Amino acid sequence: MTVDLVVTNGTVVTPAGRSPDTGVAVDDGTIVAVGRTDNLPAADRTVDAEGNVVVPGIVDCHIHNREPGLEYKEDWESATRAAAAGGVTTVVGMPNTDPIIDRPDHLECKFERGEASAHVDFQSYVVVTSENLDLIPALDEAGALGYKIFLGSTVGDVPPPSDGEILEAMERIRETGKRLGFHEENGEIVDFYTEQFQAEGRNEPIDFAHSRPVIAEREAVERMITFAAETGVKIHMYHVSSGDAAEAVARGKERDVAVTAETCPHYLWFTEDVLREKGNVARIQPPIRDAGQQARLWTSLQTGAIDCIATDHAPHTAEEKLVDDPFGNTWDAISGFVGLETEIPALLTFVDEGRLTLEEWVHHHATRPAEVWDMYPKKGSLQVGTDADITIVDPDRTWTLEDATTLHSKSCVTPFEGETFTGKAVTTIVRGEVVYEDGKVVGESGYGTRVDV
Ligand SMILES: [Zn+2]
Repeated sequence: MTVDLVVTNGTVVTPAGRSPDTGVAVDDGTIVAVGRTDNLPAADRTVDAEGNVVVPGIVDCHIHNREPGLEYKEDWESATRAAAAGGVTTVVGMPNTDPIIDRPDHLECKFERGEASAHVDFQSYVVVTSENLDLIPALDEAGALGYKIFLGSTVGDVPPPSDGEILEAMERIRETGKRLGFHEENGEIVDFYTEQFQAEGRNEPIDFAHSRPVIAEREAVERMITFAAETGVKIHMYHVSSGDAAEAVARGKERDVAVTAETCPHYLWFTEDVLREKGNVARIQPPIRDAGQQARLWTSLQTGAIDCIATDHAPHTAEEKLVDDPFGNTWDAISGFVGLETEIPALLTFVDEGRLTLEEWVHHHATRPAEVWDMYPKKGSLQVGTDADITIVDPDRTWTLEDATTLHSKSCVTPFEGETFTGKAVTTIVRGEVVYEDGKVVGESGYGTRVDV
């Protein structure tokens, strides 16, 4: 038998372990064999992994692709071009676009735009507000991956529902069997300190971080866990930034609440000092925390209280990020920055430092996100019969992001500019098609497709 493609001479790594001198055979976009290079079938095309590490395609379950409506920041084409270049084979878009993704027709529009232009596979969350509780079943039928509630004011000014509305939403979402994720910051606490700091003229980037204290995150996590215990819905905490919040998730798991959580590379890489060193470029919600919180967040990742790694890739223009005046009035800057092309390098650097194993990295960055969002084993595995999404990384390549304008996103603003990494994605394969190799995105816009759930 001759198959479409084989990846040879790699070290295949999954959460279960690693095997040197192995590879993967692919036919019709599906994995047909995983095994020793010598035993793989003949193929029309061979990708020689040259001893590099071969893993299930990385799944990023938290990006802002900005389309529809905010294409001046990013669109499906540019976001998924960055994903391909970053070694990410599946992305899930957030619903705070314009319009927000709160109705089936808005979701259909988002999917259609993705089908027309994406380079890698994709999905989308839908947002629950005070206005659309009745649409929860219809949004499920329209194919949404999951639901999101913003608990406080956020980028896009999506109004948060009341606690009563959240309980009602949870009852209805439980009926769908899908999961509900949160932007978990107590909006009343954040708004109070924001107004107080502004009145006092505390306008530095570090003041922004301190206006959103850890208690705002921890309280929101604990309240939503209490609500989930009452309603039985599956919940997820996006972008956990602090040890306090991560430990609250762990306590929820001990109580058998169906709670999962993610953190992001920037919370593990930087401390709040980055706001003093690099200014508003590092402004994000929730903010990057101090070293003590970060150390306990790390422990929570290593013990499994934190399930997933995701970027919160959040592109904005240079003007919106005050790039020309990085220490300008922080209240004039916007929160968020890009990350799709630095997430694998950051995680592989942690592997190089001995803080995670390669197996743990694959668990947190491919397998577990696919499991949490009901895409496993189609995504996040190298099992025979599943989608042939494969990421090949060089774990030893040391490099520095000297110039963020070399990134493929429309936005080139990231605090990772100037940082040095050990590790990089070298080849990205989506359903058996090579979409990135030799430093170039070679896949076609429109090849990516919606992941059916
Ligand atoms: Zn986000």
